[in-house]
Amino acid sequence: MHLSALHGWFYDCDREARWHENYPLAKGDNQSPIEISSKDARYDTCLSPWHASYDPGAAKTILNNGRTCRVVFDDTFDRSVLRGGPLSGAYRLRQLHLHWGSSDDHGSEHVVDGVKYAAELHMVHWNPKHGNFAGALKQSDGVAVVGIFLKVSEIDNIKTKGKEAPFQHFDPSILFPKSRDYWTYHGSFTTPPCEECITWILLREPIEVSADQMAKLRSLSKNGENEPVNPLVDNWRPPQPVKGRIVRASFK
Ligand SMILES: [Zn+2]
Repeated sequence: MHLSALHGWFYDCDREARWHENYPLAKGDNQSPIEISSKDARYDTCLSPWHASYDPGAAKTILNNGRTCRVVFDDTFDRSVLRGGPLSGAYRLRQLHLHWGSSDDHGSEHVVDGVKYAAELHMVHWNPKHGNFAGALKQSDGVAVVGIFLKVSEIDNIKTKGKEAPFQHFDPSILFPKSRDYWTYHGSFTTPPCEECITWILLREPIEVSADQMAKLRSLSKNGENEPVNPLVDNWRPPQPVKGRIVRASFK
């Protein structure tokens, strides 16, 4: 049996090149992340501003699942929603998580004009017109992810895999940069099974994170509490073929 069939998928030294062996969607025509070339992005005057209306009371827990750290929100009703931009209707915030590197010169998944950031934050929202999250994953307009370059959060208490802590009264909109400028394109989840259901909204302006905060992220462990520490780093997928997709920009 292939190792990844035993343990699920993983990030490893031959990187993610073999995900498609178990997850055929990973070789699709609309995969993420991609390299963004700002000069090739098409300024689109029809792209309206996006708006987030988040309820701090919707934040529930923070979790280290061995692959990332994730904050989970109550999405049983339209409590914290994203609207506007390239989207039709309101999308519910379900979770946010991060991708980061082993050092400051890489870690983001999307690459902008050749620049890799130290980390990339993904705020995952789904379209309630598809009934539930699983249903949304099967639709091309099912999910909207806001991608923000760099970020950090309260992670001291989830140092090892399987650890989860309450994470409440947290307003994720504090994570937004000043500028609302964004690029948008149609893509996929960057983790298996890599469903192609995502409207990406990538914010142009990164947010700042301290070296200490990045060090804290890298101090998380892939392993459980009584196992040797195995640093959770380099949980990013490299850029995938663009295959003719157009990246639109909300700004000139
Ligand atoms: Zn992600």
